[in-house]
Amino acid sequence: MQVHALHCGGDLQDVGIFDYAHPQAGEALYNPYYMYVISHPRGTVLLDTGAHPTLRTDPRSRLGDMADVFEALLEPDDTVPGCLARLGLTPADIDVVVQSHLHFDHAGGLEHLRHAPVYIQQAELDYAFDRTHDQADIYLVDDFAEDVDWRPVSGEHDLFGDGTVMLHATPGHTAGHQSLWVDTPSRPTFLLCDAAYLIEPMRGRRLPGVLWNGEAMLDSWDRIEAIERATGARLIATHALDFETAVPKPPDVWA
Ligand SMILES: [Zn+2]
Repeated sequence: MQVHALHCGGDLQDVGIFDYAHPQAGEALYNPYYMYVISHPRGTVLLDTGAHPTLRTDPRSRLGDMADVFEALLEPDDTVPGCLARLGLTPADIDVVVQSHLHFDHAGGLEHLRHAPVYIQQAELDYAFDRTHDQADIYLVDDFAEDVDWRPVSGEHDLFGDGTVMLHATPGHTAGHQSLWVDTPSRPTFLLCDAAYLIEPMRGRRLPGVLWNGEAMLDSWDRIEAIERATGARLIATHALDFETAVPKPPDVWA
């Protein structure tokens, strides 16, 4: 089994939102977006789907007034088809989709994956469609409202029934965030997505600026580290600022 990391654009974020103790807090740094392809003998999995291309071409149509204060930095091929093409794949080659959560920078490519089951925590679906909370602006309902073959799960879920690709509920960032553990042979790979924006503040138990529930995030961090200790997994955060050196570029993989 292998994990390919596909860099699919990014934006500029005040790094203080990720870690208030960061030496550059208050400065806008490049924040990468990623989707991941996991090759399992019984199917190809896509974890997360990047940002919708209209965030590049016509941001106001998708973001509304948020377009005044936010700019996604996307290239034309930072889409699901464009990213998969780097591996010689098309959306039709994806058998299973997993969404860590449904924020706009993770869920913008579902329209290319109507054929595939999409695994998500039930709590995340409920939260994403609830328009009353203070994260509603960073969920774009157009990304996920129609024609998705949802497979809601609650808590831990063994994707292929063989213990090699495991979904773990890691709420905190959002109400139903989940992370994906993969039994890559040299060392397991634990794709945390946004369960922690960065690894170092997680080690120091410093909570980030975008939070559904801080207590839940601290509990998730305890469980992530317990799985790390038990399995020797490498921990991967989607928005790692050191991605240029820390994350393999295709054809390199985590394996
Ligand atoms: Zn997020």
